[in-house]
Amino acid sequence: MFTLKHQDDKTNARTGVLKTASESIATPFFMPVATKMTVKQISPFELTDMGVQSIIANSYILYLKPGTKRIMEAGGIHKFMRYDGNIFTDSGGFQMLSKSFLVAVNDKGITFRDPFSERQHFLTPEAAIKIQHEIGSDVAMALDHVPPVLQERVQIADAVERTHLWAARCKRYHESCNGKNAYGRKQLLFGITQGGIFEDLREKSAQYINALDFDGIAIGGHCIGEPKEKMLSSIKKQVTHFEKHKPRYLMGVGSPIDILEAVALGIDCFDSIYPTKHARHAHVFSRQGMLKIDKGRFANDFAPLDSSCTCYVCKNFTRAFLHHLSRVEDYTYMRYLSYHNVFWLTKFMKEICNAIKNNEFTDYKKQFIKEFLTEDARRRERLALEEPNR
Ligand SMILES: [Zn+2]
Repeated sequence: MFTLKHQDDKTNARTGVLKTASESIATPFFMPVATKMTVKQISPFELTDMGVQSIIANSYILYLKPGTKRIMEAGGIHKFMRYDGNIFTDSGGFQMLSKSFLVAVNDKGITFRDPFSERQHFLTPEAAIKIQHEIGSDVAMALDHVPPVLQERVQIADAVERTHLWAARCKRYHESCNGKNAYGRKQLLFGITQGGIFEDLREKSAQYINALDFDGIAIGGHCIGEPKEKMLSSIKKQVTHFEKHKPRYLMGVGSPIDILEAVALGIDCFDSIYPTKHARHAHVFSRQGMLKIDKGRFANDFAPLDSSCTCYVCKNFTRAFLHHLSRVEDYTYMRYLSYHNVFWLTKFMKEICNAIKNNEFTDYKKQFIKEFLTEDARRRERLALEEPNR
């Protein structure tokens, strides 16, 4: 359940506590993605150590492999992957965007292809909740119809109607389980809004999903290719229809600037592959913007990745060493950079929480953007000057 703690006096930013069966999560917070029950390159013990409060796994992918039977035999997802923190599970709707998964969709559900075996599976809203119930997550997500964001209005409107139909069915199935997962622990259920970039559809969806009285409300189908201004104005419109005392989750957003803008609009929760995927491509967060550590300019740079970061990697290794690992293709660099990025983003969220509590959020946001974007712009300029194939 969610308790609102502090509301910023100049923006809609707020702090709160989301209490689940596993964790009391200070909001706003960021969740690293553990699609296949592991955050790539990072152990669950490291996640706990660095203060990560929650992760999100993908229930449909886990249903395919290793299957819910195996997870149930292990005693549920927490025991199987040895993670005691909070676990969200996504329903599988997002896989609709993948051509290797989607076969067809109608009001009854989604026909998916299993890319591992080529077999087909039919996922209904009830099945999506049952899978999450059996996996044993703390927070389950309703099944939504996720359309490509720049589709025509008629197709987006159709996806919104179907998302609403499925949301009500998910809610009913969840209630038939008495709001508990298969291990007798409380399981929360969040509804998801859709609507592409059409603000009237977004508002309609926000009103409908809000009225279903879920434990939390997620905004889905954003950050998948639409202009940034469209995403922010859509969030702004939708938030006005959300119950103030429910947590609000913006799905798929993980860049520091987007997080700051969304927090200012009243968002409490984020998830994204952004920190881990970027790390695997040698991109790291720093207070002075993103650094591409495999670039030649870091070869003799003996500073840490970020001098303000207190992570294991920044305390022990230099940019020059990490650059070297990336150039000799020793994959430990992916692990070190992933560790730093997740640690950095977790600390960033704590700073945001503290700034809101101290009524300093507006100043913090302004200062952060000034430092982060200035160097980022310089970086782009430098990249343009460097040889094209590095
Ligand atoms: Zn670090």
